[in-house]
Amino acid sequence: MITRRDAVKKTALTVAAASVALPATLSAQAPAAAAGPFKLPALPYAFDALEPHLDAKTMEIHHDRHHQTYVTNLNKALAGQGALAEKSIEEIVRHLEDIPGNLRLAVRNNGGGHYNHTLFWQMMKNGGGGEPKGGLARAIDRRFGNFAGFKEEFTGAALKTFGSGWAWLVKDQNELSVVSTPNQDNPLTQGQKVLLGLDVWEHAYYLKYQNKRADYVNAFFNIINWDFVAERFESKD
Ligand code: MN
Repeated sequence: MITRRDAVKKTALTVAAASVALPATLSAQAPAAAAGPFKLPALPYAFDALEPHLDAKTMEIHHDRHHQTYVTNLNKALAGQGALAEKSIEEIVRHLEDIPGNLRLAVRNNGGGHYNHTLFWQMMKNGGGGEPKGGLARAIDRRFGNFAGFKEEFTGAALKTFGSGWAWLVKDQNELSVVSTPNQDNPLTQGQKVLLGLDVWEHAYYLKYQNKRADYVNAFFNIINWDFVAERFESKD
C-alpha cells in the first residue's frame, strides 16, 4: 500500500532525478565523439594483427584518430538534419545528390571517409593474401586474363593516384574494373559497388614505408581478405 507521504516522497525523488539529468548545458559538453548517429566501428582485429605488412602504430593512428575524425565531422555536418542522420552511411554515399548543397562537401569527404575505412578494415586480415577462389576468381580471369593481370592493373591504379585517394576493384553491371578516386570519394556515388579498396593517403603507410608507396601496395597483397571480397562479389545488392 502506497501512502500519500510515500507518493510525495517518490514524486520529489523523480523530480530531483529529472533535474539532475536535464541541464542542456551539461549534455552539450559531452565529447563530440559520442554525439550523433554515426559511431566508429571497432577494428575487427588487434592493431598488430597485420604485422609486418602494416605496422601496429600506423593501424592505431589510422583507426583511432583518422577514422574517428571522419565520424566526428560527419556527425557535426548532420547535426540537426533529422531524416538525413537516420540514413545508413551506404545510402548517404550512394545518394550524395540528396544532401543539401551547403552540407554536401562535408558529407562527401567525411561520410566517404567513414564508409571507405569501415570497408577497408574488413578487406584485410591476419593470414590473408593469396588468390581468390570460385566465381570471383573466374570473373577476374575473364576480365584481366589472370590474377597477375589483375594485380598489375590494381597496382598501377594505386601508384598513379596523384596525391590522396583510393584504388578500387569494382563491380558495375556484373563487370569488374579497376578504378581510382581522389580524396575520400567512393565509386558507389557513380553506381559502382566496391569489392576491394586500397587507401593510398600517406597517413595509411608513411610511418613504415615513407615515400615507397609501391612497397606498401605490394605488402597489401599479403593481407587481403579475399573471403570478404568474394562475399561482396556474390551478394546481389
Ligand atoms: Mn585512411
